[in-house]
Amino acid sequence: GVPEVPARPVAPRRASRRIQVGPVAVGGGAPVSVQSMTTTRTSDIGATLQQIAELTASGCQIVRVACPTQDDADALATIARKSRIPVIADIHFQPKYVFAAIEAGCAAVRVNPGNIKKFDDQVKEIARAAKDHGTPVRIGVNAGSLDRRLLQKYGRATPEALVESALWEASLFEEHDFRDIKISVKHNDPVVMIEAYRRLAEQCDYPLHLGVTEAGPAFQGTIKSAVAFGALLSEGIGDTIRVSLSAPPAEEVKVGIRILESLNLRQRGLEIVSCPSCGRAQVDVYKLAEEVTAGLDGLDVPLRVAVMGCVVNGPGEAREADLGVASGNGKGQIFVKGEVVKTVPESRIVETLIEEAMKLAEQAK
Ligand code: SF4
Repeated sequence: GVPEVPARPVAPRRASRRIQVGPVAVGGGAPVSVQSMTTTRTSDIGATLQQIAELTASGCQIVRVACPTQDDADALATIARKSRIPVIADIHFQPKYVFAAIEAGCAAVRVNPGNIKKFDDQVKEIARAAKDHGTPVRIGVNAGSLDRRLLQKYGRATPEALVESALWEASLFEEHDFRDIKISVKHNDPVVMIEAYRRLAEQCDYPLHLGVTEAGPAFQGTIKSAVAFGALLSEGIGDTIRVSLSAPPAEEVKVGIRILESLNLRQRGLEIVSCPSCGRAQVDVYKLAEEVTAGLDGLDVPLRVAVMGCVVNGPGEAREADLGVASGNGKGQIFVKGEVVKTVPESRIVETLIEEAMKLAEQAK
């Protein structure tokens, strides 16, 4: 299930209309959801379902699969039926795959207005089919494949160009009284992307899917996405997110979840508060923090564990956390819920913290 949202999120959310992506509500105050995209050939049903299962286990709430060929389109019905999370078909060029995805029971379809040729004539039929099946449409504008007309008008993929492309496409659907839409306006530059989403947020009430496109390898992509999503979500903008990394998709999900947790848009899970260490440290803080993190990996409860190097800030932070250690003189004072429960030799700090964490996790159940 979707984790509860904690009491004090970063900002009030922008008012947006709500759509349903299968069982997952997007917009209208629903919790911000985390998405990812498979990297398998969609036509390889077994491999795709296997990857979707891994993504589901890592906390992914909505998954997108590419649909570039007829074989991929043919695989959609089985994948949509067997996946435990809603499946969105990602379609760039051919309207016929949009119809196929809707017929196949996909939870939504993503279309790229810059790429779908002759798309405009077919909006009416797409809107009708989507309405009949209750299938929402994501209008996914991408800087790299912006409509040629807008590229000529603006010279490059500016925030204005991205927004105009998205709203123009939305207006074509609106003409057919179809508003079951969410929008994304992705760019690889967080500054352009932030500006585009801000403008879009002002000009419509559709739920927004945040993404920095081609964000890069894990380290760079994580930073770009955290900065861009952090800026927008702090203004209440964004209803669902996808972190794009040149890394296994489960990594994207982990990063996405952590971004939402950091902004109190999602109940925090396990959180290690460790000091950066300094000349006062009396233990190897890095090693201690790493061993505690590894020892508690997979513990799925909200728990704040403080690992502090000395007695200056140590006791204060350790007291504030659910569990903590303040080290000094070759010993560690172990705190549980603000009280020192025991003092152990340095060699036993990690195992004691893990033991106490397990007890707290047991109580939390
Ligand atoms: Fe330095 Fe102690 Fe602060 Fe860690 S807790 S950074 S060791 S002063």
